[in-house]
Amino acid sequence: MPLSRGASSTHNMAGAKKGIQTSALHRARPDTETPWRLNCASHSGRLGSMRALVKQKKGPGHLALVDVPTPEPGEGEVQIAIRAAGICGTDIHIVHDTFPYVPPVILGHEFCGEISAVGSGVDELKAGERVMAETTATLCGTCPFCLSGDTNRCAARTAYGVHVNGGFAEHVVVRKDAVHRLPPGVDFHAGAATEPLAVCVHALLERTQVTPGQLVLILGPGPIGLFAALVAKAHGAVVVVAGTARDAERLKLADTIGVARAIEVESTDLAGEIKTLAPETGGADITVEAAGAAASVAAAYACTRKGGTIVQLGLFEGAVQVDYSQIAVRELNVIGSFAHIWSSFDTALRLMDDGTIDVAPLISAVLPLDEGLEAFARAEAGADAKILLAPS
Ligand SMILES: [Zn+2]
Ligand SMILES: [Zn+2]
Repeated sequence: MPLSRGASSTHNMAGAKKGIQTSALHRARPDTETPWRLNCASHSGRLGSMRALVKQKKGPGHLALVDVPTPEPGEGEVQIAIRAAGICGTDIHIVHDTFPYVPPVILGHEFCGEISAVGSGVDELKAGERVMAETTATLCGTCPFCLSGDTNRCAARTAYGVHVNGGFAEHVVVRKDAVHRLPPGVDFHAGAATEPLAVCVHALLERTQVTPGQLVLILGPGPIGLFAALVAKAHGAVVVVAGTARDAERLKLADTIGVARAIEVESTDLAGEIKTLAPETGGADITVEAAGAAASVAAAYACTRKGGTIVQLGLFEGAVQVDYSQIAVRELNVIGSFAHIWSSFDTALRLMDDGTIDVAPLISAVLPLDEGLEAFARAEAGADAKILLAPS
């Protein structure tokens, strides 16, 4: 695969899906508990140790800041000295044992830093380069999805910080083909936000295409909802963000990034407000469900115009009831969007590099890795957008 990492900022979306070169890929690990030595120190040439935030075993809790062996890069791998890594809702789900993962595992899938060492067979990347890495740790490399670049659909896909050690540590080792260079206009804090921004790029610019003047309703002002608002706004949409009373602080944040309306649904008739904003069609052109809540799904169906699009980004803890007839009668397009592909990262980096999107207002705090447990508690409290951890 051509390692045109420097071209990150010039790739356009259309032609940028990447095929996968099988030789460079790890074998996918089975979804079973794995001894720490396999998970962490498989390349233990010169064993130092480092601080890391580890989900130690199955069950709620079991998150600990511990010393673990520093991983060394093997063939086709690079070691990154972490500069910043974002706490995500997925990390919190893993701590609560409500998202599949393989313990013991260093959490953190939204990270960036500087390359600190490269393994054999890595000529394209050098120590000292500023980079971030995709979440995808392993792929089969041979399925139709891998071959077409739709790597988020590969059945063998595993993720850093979920199945394989991630970035809440001083160092992480990743496959070289997961690495994107940070363009000059993207600092380490923005670099750590590349992954959630890529999720929203995939949803709003790849799975569907937001265009200027559209009314875009975002249900759920969590970090992903707020990043989605940035993407939609940057592409000329009129953006409405909706949340519950519990989301009050995040709705204020939505206001500060300049959305048209930030609406608290418990005290406001959301569908009525949307109709006021779109008197001719009566609904949003695109609705992004980013809350993963049954009431939010109902709102999505009530607030999207005929012929409009619902993008399902949120994940639910169980099945939800949907009035499916509406999809037919109102000719709705219901589109699922999951994670990201190579081009999503390229586009996210370009949008930050050229100033189209400024993620800084959504980075609420940068805390030392040593305060990781407190940072998780704060992230869970839900008043902030993105909290980053940085090794000292
Ligand atoms: Zn995430
Ligand atoms: Zn595959």
